[in-house]
Amino acid sequence: MADEQAAKRIAEFIEPLRVTPGSKVTLAKDFDPGYKADFVKKKDGLELLQRGVELMTEYQSRLAAQDTYGLLVVLQALDAAGKDGTIRHVMSGVNPQGVFVHSFKVPSPEEINHEYLWRYAKALPGRGEIGIFNRSHYEEVLVVRVHPENLVRQRLPKEARGRDVWKRRYRDINDWERHLADNGFKIVKLLLNLSQEEQRVRFLRRIDLPDHNWKFSAADAHERTFWPAYQKAFSEMLTATSTEWAPWYVIPADHKWFARICASAVIANALIEIDPHYPRVSPEARKALEATKVELEAQAPEGAAPDPFAAQTAAAASRQHDARKTGKKARKKATKEAKKAKKAAKAERKDRASVEQADRLADRETEKESLREDEREARVVERETGAGGEAAGKGAH
Ligand code: AMP
Ligand code: MG
Repeated sequence: MADEQAAKRIAEFIEPLRVTPGSKVTLAKDFDPGYKADFVKKKDGLELLQRGVELMTEYQSRLAAQDTYGLLVVLQALDAAGKDGTIRHVMSGVNPQGVFVHSFKVPSPEEINHEYLWRYAKALPGRGEIGIFNRSHYEEVLVVRVHPENLVRQRLPKEARGRDVWKRRYRDINDWERHLADNGFKIVKLLLNLSQEEQRVRFLRRIDLPDHNWKFSAADAHERTFWPAYQKAFSEMLTATSTEWAPWYVIPADHKWFARICASAVIANALIEIDPHYPRVSPEARKALEATKVELEAQAPEGAAPDPFAAQTAAAASRQHDARKTGKKARKKATKEAKKAKKAAKAERKDRASVEQADRLADRETEKESLREDEREARVVERETGAGGEAAGKGAH
């Protein structure tokens, strides 16, 4: 279970990434692709990354068991922003049975023969499931807008392709998402925000590393010439479609490791907000379970435990209890020994100090004695040389 502190930390961490519904966004001005919070290096964020994945694992399991809510994660980005890597990472902690990834490419003839939301609706997650859209219905206001020939291919009737077509699409999308949210499907939308320079470097890497060549196409590089048009389309999309029921999060994508922390934190937060629970059986159903248990126990063959699982559970609990007790004892013993060692060290220091002091006193005494000896000798010499006659005479007075 997510402790409240972890949940709070995650919510605070993702807050700066959230596009406030109703706010006007200029992507380049409002969001820095190189942002990495207070983390200086990758290792600083490892704990949060680990926690995000753990929470996802736990909550996905409950989401599936409860079978009431679903989660849709929308991933949008330009080429080389790290969508695939992010999905791989997010998937690392979840049970593949309950998570589906759907990648949207150029529409097929069948898809283009329908209204534009058709193919996305077909790929939505069911209850208890997490669906990840690798590209999404937002392509309909991004690539289709930047390259209007895509709109022509959609064969819209005249009244549907006027100048307000994008505004109407934003409205359609908001309404559609609201309908999904109202019916138990939570939606989070992630825009991986890459800088133009980082994209250039990543493209070069794909060219320079033979194993990565397959990922690169000259068309991707050509698409860079449309960079300003995409930035404008992104900004308008974020402004018009970040809603209370399906907010956008702009994920800084220039540092891949940081983008992954952000993505898993946003998804973990969405699951925490859903707060799914394992279903509890009713008292009647519980009674029926107990009755079946008695029957099964009675069927145990000779020599077998009536309920080996209960015996195992009890043994495991007792082992855990013992381990905790032994641990406590060992800690106590270690503390006692450490105290004893400290005391012995102190005594030794004290002994050493007193020996040194005794040596110093003895040295001083020897020195004094040798001075006294010198004086005695000097007096003897004075007496013997006569120089001391005066003194002796004086003394005779
Ligand atoms: P990728 O994700 O790199 O495999 O490429 C998929 C391609 O499909 C991208 O170039 C997208 O822009 C394009 N695409 C996705 N959805 C649409 C759409 N609705 N209309 C036109 N092109 C699309
Ligand atoms: Mg591509």
